[in-house]
Amino acid sequence: MVTLKEALQLPREELRELKKELNRKAREERELGGYIEQFLNCDLSDGGDGVPIAIKDNINVKGWEITCSSEILQGYIAPYDATVIEKMREKGLTPYGRTNMDQFAMGSSTETSYYGPTLNPLDRERVPGGSSGGSAAVVGAGLAIAALGSDTGGSIRQPAAFCGVVGMKPTYGRVSRYGLVAFSSSLDQIGPITQNVEDAALLYSIIAGPDHKDSTCVDLPVEPIELKTDRKFTVGVVENYLEEAAPEISKPIWEMVRELEKRGHTIKPVKLINSQIDVATYYIIATAEASSNLARFDGMRYGKRVEGKNLRETYKLTRALFGEEVKRRILLGTFVLSSGYYDAYYLRAQRVRHLIKQEFKNLFKEMDLLLGPVTPTLPFKFGEKKSPLEMYLNDIYTIGANLAGLPAISVPIAKSGHLSVSLQLIADHFQEPTLFQGAYLVEQLASLRSER
Ligand code: GLN
Repeated sequence: MVTLKEALQLPREELRELKKELNRKAREERELGGYIEQFLNCDLSDGGDGVPIAIKDNINVKGWEITCSSEILQGYIAPYDATVIEKMREKGLTPYGRTNMDQFAMGSSTETSYYGPTLNPLDRERVPGGSSGGSAAVVGAGLAIAALGSDTGGSIRQPAAFCGVVGMKPTYGRVSRYGLVAFSSSLDQIGPITQNVEDAALLYSIIAGPDHKDSTCVDLPVEPIELKTDRKFTVGVVENYLEEAAPEISKPIWEMVRELEKRGHTIKPVKLINSQIDVATYYIIATAEASSNLARFDGMRYGKRVEGKNLRETYKLTRALFGEEVKRRILLGTFVLSSGYYDAYYLRAQRVRHLIKQEFKNLFKEMDLLLGPVTPTLPFKFGEKKSPLEMYLNDIYTIGANLAGLPAISVPIAKSGHLSVSLQLIADHFQEPTLFQGAYLVEQLASLRSER
């Protein structure tokens, strides 16, 4: 597959051919389920002349159905372009193909999609991760040049790791959320899923930047990203994460750490607060915000409506269309926000969030980057995670960056049989240039190692 960088150089005619080819392949690989079925059924001969980028089904593209892979939003047509889409169009990129996801971005396996699961292109018996599973799978399978995903607690980095591609979550406020269906507004960020680090930096630079339509989007110019490998980094290796992770994951990561040390980078062992605290804090804050954000889906303004005898019943019947996981989170979120429990859960979670932020801040006084695993295990099989909690624990290493608003990236570094292992780098707020340089270095070292 051509890279994004290469595709941006292609003449129009060749791009058109490329699109036809992508569409043919997508139809052939229908079974993979990375693209949402309606995308495959529609006529894609138009849609603009730009470089085709696959878009997660929670980002508004004018005129496209946008459903967050849910039943409740069936038939809802996006009335406008998200800011990231506008920015893409300005730079010669075209949205092309809606990708599957966990319903309303809640999940780690894409199994909660109304359309059914997406398969992992590396092993079709395994999940592609989630919630941006479709975006990661289509890039991993060579069905897309690059894709956009969204990351609230790891939904870009974890599926990218499972599918052997690069996934990056920007600093909170670096990329506009205007036109992204809100799950947890204080955590959500849109980011790139690509074949390599250079493409991730490219796509990131295109979608990042100020936006007056999103008040949480910062008014800072985007720094140019120069990918050079001669810089010496101080890297904090998150030892307790590596100790907890499966050996198939931790072994190649330790090897990479040794390699970095050999090349003159300073390695410092660090410990981050028990990852269980992250998970508990996240599932209070994310569900609280989700319960409020999802209140708007009541059958009055968006998508499907199930008529009842009266207004109350109409609400009830319509909101029953939410999937199980979404309902669970709305209930949980409503509970932690209810008077009597607010202080015990929500307020306390906000305090712990502050501590988590502080812990990272202190570490970044000394470190350029933190390095650790993306996930505790390799991709699991469909249906393997029986309880919601088991599923939630998949995000123990990714959630911290969201709670603290930090930029983070997952980069594939080794093979484990037919599967892929990635490591995660986290940088300080707005240090995307450092993050990408570190990721680029790791990517180069990984390819040198695999040649040896
Ligand atoms: N897996 C996490 C969750 O279920 C993260 C989801 C996300 O980042 N959108 O909430």
